[in-house]
Amino acid sequence: MAVEVLRDYSLAPEQVPLVASTRPTESERKAMRKRIGEELRRQKMVLVAHYYVDGELQELAEETGGCVADSLEMARFGRDHEAQKLIVAGVRFMGETAKILSPEKQVYMPTLAAECSLDLGCPPDAFEAFIGQHPDRTVVVYANTSARVKALSDWVVTSSCALEIVSALKARGERILWAPDKHLGRYIQAQTQADMLLWSGACVVHEEFKAAALADLRKVHPHAALLVHPESPAEVIAQADVVGSTSAIIKGARELPNETFIVATDRGIFHQLRRQNPNKQFIEAPTAGDGATCRSCAHCPWMAMNELQNLERLLLDDSIRGRNEVHVDPAIGQRAKLPLDRMLEFQR
Ligand code: SF4
Repeated sequence: MAVEVLRDYSLAPEQVPLVASTRPTESERKAMRKRIGEELRRQKMVLVAHYYVDGELQELAEETGGCVADSLEMARFGRDHEAQKLIVAGVRFMGETAKILSPEKQVYMPTLAAECSLDLGCPPDAFEAFIGQHPDRTVVVYANTSARVKALSDWVVTSSCALEIVSALKARGERILWAPDKHLGRYIQAQTQADMLLWSGACVVHEEFKAAALADLRKVHPHAALLVHPESPAEVIAQADVVGSTSAIIKGARELPNETFIVATDRGIFHQLRRQNPNKQFIEAPTAGDGATCRSCAHCPWMAMNELQNLERLLLDDSIRGRNEVHVDPAIGQRAKLPLDRMLEFQR
């Protein structure tokens, strides 16, 4: 059983953007929400938002017939919806995935600057060279990668389906080359005992959760259940009552009998958790403590770039829409669609 870890592709703190933005007043936001809703309807566009973006964007997506979901469901919704114009409020790989699955549709984002540390930590040329050194392995990549990296892979997975897909590949006797998240890779390897060679990227949000501070917090809240996203370090995952995707975390909060929950994932998810469970208490898992280098502090700086302001500008200004349309090279898109379709087919 090989678990090999390669050079570290985690981002240094200075590579993570600091996002500072002026929040409009409540009455300005109300007026913006109204205009955005009207423009979405007038332009026959549908808004597809991730659980980590601002709560008001999540509400807008729901109110206007769009969806709020994890990356797997966002991909499926965008593909299956009749609208020919999608706005993806999330990070760039999500916009690219929507375009790859529906090349005939126009896909826009409030900002194309919304990256992801996992995507940035897996440069396609270096990854292609790595694959070339291990031609006997099945290449499984997380959805948080560029179109080019997906085009190099055999399978794309999300945290909702990674365990099941890797288990199935192991049962077929396949040895796996996994990228880019090392924490999720180690978790999947430990659960499935599959032979996995791991790329060494990390999520700047989840990597910051601190196991020792978490153990201290649990002493203060001994009856709280701990919900953890598997991009977190192994010592944090080891303490969890539920480990899983954003959808699994939301389900755990809904179904477990506990009244209090400690949650180790991006704090954007608290909007749905509190809305769906008004009588339960949700506490952020700690990112401070010894060794803290946090510049994201449980909130993805790239997800935070999605705002009412840039969504409104996108809808009102043709030139911005021209600049913020997601394009994927058709040949790369065609190749990247194969492992994405495989994942969606596996999930049916
Ligand atoms: S939370 Fe982490 S994995 Fe998700 S988009 Fe941000 S950097 Fe990427």
